Amino acid sequence: MASNSPVLILLGPPGAGKGTQARMLEEDFGLVQLSTGDMLRAAVSAGTEAGKKAKAVMEAGQLVSDDIVLAILKDRMSQPDVAKGIILDGFPRTDGQAAALDGLLAGNGQKVTAAISLEVDDEAMVGRVSGRYTCAKCGEGYHDEFKLPAVSGVCDKCGGTDMKRRADDNAETVRERLKAYHAQTAPLIAYYDGKGVLQRIDAMGNIADIRVKLGTIVGGVSA
Ligand SMILES: [Zn+2]
Repeated sequence: MASNSPVLILLGPPGAGKGTQARMLEEDFGLVQLSTGDMLRAAVSAGTEAGKKAKAVMEAGQLVSDDIVLAILKDRMSQPDVAKGIILDGFPRTDGQAAALDGLLAGNGQKVTAAISLEVDDEAMVGRVSGRYTCAKCGEGYHDEFKLPAVSGVCDKCGGTDMKRRADDNAETVRERLKAYHAQTAPLIAYYDGKGVLQRIDAMGNIADIRVKLGTIVGGVSA
């Protein structure tokens, strides 16, 4: 990829809409989202040098080291489909990994363009996620507050009356997930804030506004 192509880090808790926003960035700017899991699997199946190392480590039941992940990322960044820039998802997870990533990018005359933190209102998020339920028969989704069926307990789509809730969609679990996210991400946010590349986006806002804001971030730095 070209040295002035954007390198974005997308940070956000589960439910903040990371997938949606990555897709908008791909559509609007031709960026490619790289998730650590996908890159690892691809490198292993392609049998690259780093992929072979990763395979051996995983078969031994161990975690893939940062060095191996960075080697796989380096290989991936040299492929032509990411020429217009990348969005990293799932890496870095720690400030140590962020520093290692900076080192890798510097070797290529690059740096992180922006670390985009999708900011959510925790309690609103708890309400959004914890009220969800689906029709067991057809899978139609409902919500206690935002989307009730026309007749209580009866599916609009298929007339089914068996509604199910996922055990991990309750308020307590969602709060725990958010707490863990904040604890894990705080050092990373501080790291990128210190580098002057942190961008906070209100992820509770409407999609069109978010899209404009993302455009300003990417367009403002890659031109
Ligand atoms: Zn149904």
